[in-house]
Amino acid sequence: MRTSIATVSLSGSLTEKLDAAARAGFDGVELFENDLLASPLTPEDIRARCADLGLRIDLYQPMRDVEAVPEAEFARNLRRARHKFELMRRLGADTVLVCSSVSPQAVDDDALAAEQLARLAGLAAEYGIRVAYEALAWGRHVSTYDHAWRIVETAGHPALGTCLDSFHILSRAFGPADLEGIAAIPGEKIFFLQLADAPLLAMDVLQWSRHYRCFPGQGGFDIAALVRHVLATGYDGPLSLEVFNDVFRQAEAGPTAVDARRSLLLLKEAVGKAILPDPVVPTGVAFAELVTPDAEPLADLLGALGFTRTARHRGKPVALWEQGDARILVNTGSAARRDGTRLAAIGLESPDPAGAARRAEALLAPVLPRRRAPRDVPLDAVAAPDGTELFFCATGRPDLPDWRADFADTNLPPARADIRGIDHLALTQPWHHFDEAALFHRGVLGLDAQESVDVADPYGLMRSRAVTNADGSVRIALTVGAAPTDDTVHAQHIALATDDVVAAARRFRDAGGRLLPVPANYYDDLAARFEFSDGELETYRDLGILYDRDAHGTFRHCYTRTVGRVFFELVQRDGGDGGDGGYRGYGAANAPVRLAAQHTARALTGG
Ligand code: MG
Ligand code: MG
Repeated sequence: MRTSIATVSLSGSLTEKLDAAARAGFDGVELFENDLLASPLTPEDIRARCADLGLRIDLYQPMRDVEAVPEAEFARNLRRARHKFELMRRLGADTVLVCSSVSPQAVDDDALAAEQLARLAGLAAEYGIRVAYEALAWGRHVSTYDHAWRIVETAGHPALGTCLDSFHILSRAFGPADLEGIAAIPGEKIFFLQLADAPLLAMDVLQWSRHYRCFPGQGGFDIAALVRHVLATGYDGPLSLEVFNDVFRQAEAGPTAVDARRSLLLLKEAVGKAILPDPVVPTGVAFAELVTPDAEPLADLLGALGFTRTARHRGKPVALWEQGDARILVNTGSAARRDGTRLAAIGLESPDPAGAARRAEALLAPVLPRRRAPRDVPLDAVAAPDGTELFFCATGRPDLPDWRADFADTNLPPARADIRGIDHLALTQPWHHFDEAALFHRGVLGLDAQESVDVADPYGLMRSRAVTNADGSVRIALTVGAAPTDDTVHAQHIALATDDVVAAARRFRDAGGRLLPVPANYYDDLAARFEFSDGELETYRDLGILYDRDAHGTFRHCYTRTVGRVFFELVQRDGGDGGDGGYRGYGAANAPVRLAAQHTARALTGG
């Protein structure tokens, strides 16, 4: 099936939008009238440019407030339409979108609407153009797809069909039964299918549509179910994205177009119209790689946490630090000098590294060159939308390259055994790529995405969404900062799993480590919310340990000070009485306190 995208879904000039759509691999565009009006290009130039880029102009849109009006008004509408049809002929576009009227002049008269739309279609046919009539969810008299179809059917003109738009349908649908009417529409009378998802919000439908639409798979609608209904009619036109979204309007067109196309590929896979390499779900975290211009502060921090530098890369300035199953690479190579200390790469244990990379590539993830130096073990790796490098690893598998072969042991004995492994990794997303990141980790890596949570920060709002595998051995928390420019405040972190957070925190502090202090008010509130044994709360207060509980168990956690953009968290998850694996969250209830404490610490240290 062909894929298309409305120019309104991308930012920039028309030229930039067309380039971005073509580069991401779309077959066509819906040309939005305002983009044409604002462009210095003539219609002939636009037509030639689209042809050069291999893009078809699948739809010209929109024409508004046409039907069910007094005759004198309709005559003016036909004159307006003639202008548009002439323009469309110059563009080489053969389908026009007509939205159901919102005009106060329109009357509630289906017969009149059908008669006038038939006359419009008659005029369009003279230009070789088809009219696709769409019910806006806020249309004055026609607001549902089945109503629009009844009018099209009554009109009975071959150049008149309907346009189905997933947002307008699903924003008004209350259950699967609301989609059954689609089966009554012959596929050849569905002239166009527009797709947009949206988060489930209780708000005015017009505002919801204009500002919050998102790409399929990024919101709460079941787009795949709707597309299956439409395909069952025999519809064979394009799947086209029409997304109005405040964030995309400001984000760069190129990455947005890639995000858009990835969402359509996943949708096509879901409805059986594309065969992609199967997802290969990661089974653990092999390593987290920090790059830093100065190894010293990280070495101090890791040493105090009880890590040992167990190995050194044979050809590069990279050290491997280990404790339990937690493995952290500290890279002081040239890349580090640019951006300061940050979490640059994650090694994911994969049952089939090459297969994982193939799926990622099929879903438009940039494939990274296999590691460079002649000695380096070749590893499959791709870049996530935020630039984090994801390496697909097969640690200890004799049949596959093992990344550890690049490292020479230091033969230093393990220092402590406080840490069991990596509990989770928290990655800060560029503010306009949050939804894309969740879809990427879900669609490309096969992880499950949990609900998005909003967390109050003293200077804004932070959103966070976790993606995990089934047994929780891979947990990645995707967060987005309060403001577009503010991605240094919301640092990345590595959470380390321990069975005794009190002992681990004490030993960290005794070894010279600095824990993030937490205000006394927090503990006064905890005392009111939960019951603690004698002295327990005082211990938490002393060490800055935060506490939470859910239906599955308890969560105790504390934080180190931040180095560059990175800090560590010590995490103890305990099971409830049910023994169902323990606490499942990430301490979101405590996040505002933690964020405020980090702001205070930054203010005190001036960094
Ligand atoms: Mg639409
Ligand atoms: Mg955390």
